Amino acid sequence: MLSKNQFVSPNQQLDTSYAEVVINIPLNRVFHYNIPPGLKENLTTGMRVKIPFSNKIVTGICVGFANTPLPYTMKDIISVLDTAPLIDNGMLQVTQWLSSHYCCGWGEAIYAVIPPVVRSRVKEKWNIFIKGADHIPMLDHTTLSEIKTRAPKQARALEILREFSGEISAKELSRISGCQMQGLRQLEKKGLIIVKRKLLEAENPPVDIALLQQHLTFTQEQQDAFDKINKKLTQPMPGVILLHGITGSGKTEIYLQTMSKVIGQNRKVIFLVPEISLTSQTIERIRARFNHVAVLHSHLLGTFHHSQWNDIKENKIDIVIGARSSIFAPLKNIGLIILDEEHENTYKQENAPRYHARDIAILRATYENALVILGSATPSLESYYRASCGDYEKIVLPKRIGDRQLPSVEIVDMREEVCKRKRYRIISQRLEYYMNQTLARNEQVILFLNRRGFAPYIHCKRCGFVLKCHQCDIPVTFHKKLHITLCHYCHAEATPPESCPDCLASHINYRGFGTEKIEDEIIAKFPHYKIIRMDSDSMRVRGAHEKALTAFERGEIQILLGTQMIAKGLDFPNVTLVGVISADTVLNLPDFRASERTFQLISQVAGRTGRGPKGGRVVVQSFNPQHYSITYAAAHDYDGFAEKELGYRKPLNYPPFGKLTRIVFRSPNEEKVKEKASLVANTLKEMVKANGNCLEILGPSPTPLTKINNMFRWHLLLKAQNYDSIHHTLQGIADMLKSSKGVQAMVDVDPYMML
Ligand code: ADP
Ligand code: ZN
Repeated sequence: MLSKNQFVSPNQQLDTSYAEVVINIPLNRVFHYNIPPGLKENLTTGMRVKIPFSNKIVTGICVGFANTPLPYTMKDIISVLDTAPLIDNGMLQVTQWLSSHYCCGWGEAIYAVIPPVVRSRVKEKWNIFIKGADHIPMLDHTTLSEIKTRAPKQARALEILREFSGEISAKELSRISGCQMQGLRQLEKKGLIIVKRKLLEAENPPVDIALLQQHLTFTQEQQDAFDKINKKLTQPMPGVILLHGITGSGKTEIYLQTMSKVIGQNRKVIFLVPEISLTSQTIERIRARFNHVAVLHSHLLGTFHHSQWNDIKENKIDIVIGARSSIFAPLKNIGLIILDEEHENTYKQENAPRYHARDIAILRATYENALVILGSATPSLESYYRASCGDYEKIVLPKRIGDRQLPSVEIVDMREEVCKRKRYRIISQRLEYYMNQTLARNEQVILFLNRRGFAPYIHCKRCGFVLKCHQCDIPVTFHKKLHITLCHYCHAEATPPESCPDCLASHINYRGFGTEKIEDEIIAKFPHYKIIRMDSDSMRVRGAHEKALTAFERGEIQILLGTQMIAKGLDFPNVTLVGVISADTVLNLPDFRASERTFQLISQVAGRTGRGPKGGRVVVQSFNPQHYSITYAAAHDYDGFAEKELGYRKPLNYPPFGKLTRIVFRSPNEEKVKEKASLVANTLKEMVKANGNCLEILGPSPTPLTKINNMFRWHLLLKAQNYDSIHHTLQGIADMLKSSKGVQAMVDVDPYMML
């Protein structure tokens, strides 16, 4: 798929008569402009220009030059905005591929690659920080509830500061509390908070070389894997390695020593992680071993740091660590790209350009003749399949370091649990029994549930009414701590009703369970132990996550309860019990990857235990205890699962065999969206009939979440043997996919979200 000569390289400056310019719009088209004589010397590709464009003046990016005059009069470029290119030719090619593969505008792709802070050139050195006044923990109830009724957002900000005793940047406090600077100033006047202006410290102070840690001595398996990697590294086109190593098999040590080798050859490394804030242990291990490391916190701050971007550009950095967008870091001379936990969905971007970091990694590596290592204990079936076809070299680490055993996994049939006990309890008898034993031995417990909030349904026991979001056709979740109902799709908040909005009876019932409810239950059942809940509600403040994990590591907390936040990466030898509260949350999703995700989640969570000499045990609760994704995960049988799942997908031609593309139509008008989806589907079906195209059109149908944010949604799926036929087809209907009559269309090549 990713051959080098497939790409048209942007025209070099052979003749600079006309500039080719792209704009940040969802249209894959290049526009031509005259370059007035005064600007000619100043303009190269990758610079921004001001141009007249349909009666407006807009900013575009120069992507090349044309030397043959075009058969129409061209307008002049007004001015050149940069003195140096924001993006080099290599990355221009990457963005061109992005736009053609993922069907978005070239300009859109370029803007996705250059972080906003670099474009706007704000050098934000100063920042405002907020701290709670010393007496907020003691604030009496009346003062607080007074603020709560008058200014709920201010009260929220105070509650956050009370929960978190450190300093928070004002920007972040505003973001998570909804309280603007003006409100914060009022709190300052009342003496409730302290506002400080501070110079931003460098995020990653260089480590003293003398303090850098030594490499560990490899085990035989690690050494064998490393030798194979080394052999690849010496090849002119190293390609891709799939490192399939079970949890605790020592993959990270192999990454570290491979990085060392590559840096020793004066080449650079990109290390991608699913999410920066959830991978602190791995990042610390890298930073303890190397100097010149840049950790790009793009996810947390919304931007890269300008200075970091420059350091990378100026060759001062050896290793860039970051989430998916770091694959665009302006690093030169890359020798190695690592995707840790390559199966994670966070590598896929969910707005345009809807790229997958794995594809971009492989593309960049092809240009740079770099090696790609995809590492995982549960590789995506895409990567597993490509390795079995011989496209990637596969290296397997089937054993844990130090002959540690994988934990034994017990499946609890929750249907029996319901029959056995008068009242259904979320924590089964078996799990409770093991928890008691584990805690009594001074060991620690991790509990996993993939659902936050207190209860996912608010309903009336008398008339059956279910409370839904007023903007989305989706039940809202009750969040008890904040005493709100929250829509998990559009984030709309409301006050929970006292009585049924429909029949007015006061029979409001909270059904189902989320992490908040489990927390209450655990506190009631295990009053002598400390529990911490980790989900995006309790961990909103930057740094809270690290703080909680440190307390858990020190043994100050015995029970860690959390969402997918705790599923990966954690390495605590004293954790000897893991409980999966419900294996069914993902399994029941209407998505062809539901089984794969369930298998991955259980395997990853199970991998958090048995990491020390005391061994470990896992209890998985499910209403589908015989489902193969659960039984194979319990048996630690990845290959068994993969073969079974591939066996299901092959006859249906689902990925990794066929290629999927999803088109979603959205409109505030239900009739119009349905009409448009049907029109496009019929056109496609006719095209298929006429061309004998081996393309399958599924749908149109309403999406499983039929209305989000007041927009009705319909979708259709294209299933094809290869990308060419998808691209060709999409080109044929490009005009139909432009927004019209209030209906928007969104194209997602290789979709991961089916809702
Ligand atoms: P993975 O990334 O595959 O889950 P890790 O790299 O976290 O595995 O390794 C698991 C544990 O084994 C870690 O505590 C790590 O420090 C330790 N470890 C890894 N390699 C070695 C080695 N060669 N000698 C001793 N300990 C090792
Ligand atoms: Zn909503």
